[in-house]
Amino acid sequence: MAQTTAFVGVNVIPMDRERVLTNQTVIVRDGKIAEIGEVGKVKVPKDAVMVDAKGKYLIPGLVDMHTHLLSDDDAYPDTIAPDELRVMVANGVTTVRFMIGTPELLKLRSQSASGEIVAPTIYVASPHLTGREQGNNFVVKSLDEARDAVRKSKAAGYDFIKVTTFVPGLVYEAAVDEAAKIGIRVVGHADSRFVGVERAWKAKQQIEHLDGYIELLLKTDAPMKGSVSDLYIYNPENWKSFDYMDESKIPDIARKTVASNRFFDPTHHFMKNSFGRLRTEDEMRAQPDFKFYPAKVQAQWFDFYKRNRFINTVPLEKRARWVELREKLIKAIVDAGGKMLAGSDTPEFLWLYGFGLHHELKALKEAGVSNYTVLAAGTRNAHEFFGTLDKIGTVQKGKQADLVLLNANPLDDISATKNRAGVMLKGTWYTQAELDKWLDEIAPKIAGSYVEKH
Ligand SMILES: [Zn+2]
Repeated sequence: MAQTTAFVGVNVIPMDRERVLTNQTVIVRDGKIAEIGEVGKVKVPKDAVMVDAKGKYLIPGLVDMHTHLLSDDDAYPDTIAPDELRVMVANGVTTVRFMIGTPELLKLRSQSASGEIVAPTIYVASPHLTGREQGNNFVVKSLDEARDAVRKSKAAGYDFIKVTTFVPGLVYEAAVDEAAKIGIRVVGHADSRFVGVERAWKAKQQIEHLDGYIELLLKTDAPMKGSVSDLYIYNPENWKSFDYMDESKIPDIARKTVASNRFFDPTHHFMKNSFGRLRTEDEMRAQPDFKFYPAKVQAQWFDFYKRNRFINTVPLEKRARWVELREKLIKAIVDAGGKMLAGSDTPEFLWLYGFGLHHELKALKEAGVSNYTVLAAGTRNAHEFFGTLDKIGTVQKGKQADLVLLNANPLDDISATKNRAGVMLKGTWYTQAELDKWLDEIAPKIAGSYVEKH
């Protein structure tokens, strides 16, 4: 179906560089941006669906670089996956990277590409390489196992090799070597006790979560080597390391990061608001995404926050200091020329995909960078990382028409990404009223699909 759409009178934020083109007409045809120009200078075809976009702001579709589905887990059926993907679209998220691969996600990737389902453009990292069994993984303890896992992942069609925790350094190096040989990139954690950031830098890995970075800030004469990255966050002992932090190391760390791999994905909101400043139960209940979770899961998370030893023993000031250091790292890496990516790490901890990406944009802004830098993280930088920026990721003639129409200017206030008039996915226009209806219909379906594991 060849649909032509015309956005008339719109302010375009093309994201090729920092600028706003006012009072434009944007014509979309066959899934692509066919024309952009000043109102009156661009002819609107007779058959075009007109979108009155006067005074509104058009940005590229948003990208979540770190997410998962509830249906990755056995507790939810695979049949809810298309609805989960629609929740993302309804929030303006038009491209996603799933960070722990499954065969089901590969199938969804091709169903999305062929137009069989209404879904974002999908990238899928491999099942994660880990040193200990954790589900949807390759447990790699030897060099051969590591090379084998990499080859199998590439053959299965995964887009990246994902590494998480407990992988011995030499085993990691074998995985990296094999990945380079067969042409697939390595992304993920840099377990501070096993791999370490320095080794990950050498491998030019794209690092998630600023994993291992807080350990780099330890004073040389600190009585411990460990700190709170990754799963080590849960041990209150590790929080003693905050008496030995050396901030003056940050500029050098930032330079080395950019020299290794300019792209970094701090998943800062997830860290800050799951472990730093904690929500009250009332705040969780008030979230618009709360109703997508079954009562049982809501109760489990309430319980987690009540009982967790780290949550209940580490003082708020220490956790605030951790957040502050993370924000200084983010700012320094950006200042050194780093390209930030926006990852929500949803849907754990009662933060749902789609909604979570907007939290991440806000959190990145709180690190002290510009709104343009944040918007680039949530749009074009991801496509630059994927190597597809010539086809998608900016509002320019010839690009794939993944667009979000906002009621306010996100370069003034990044929270404008939550104030949407509608979303265009691969050239098909949906008003936000329609999308909100989807969300209302889908919430009870997802919550009701949950089957408790035995
Ligand atoms: Zn994750």
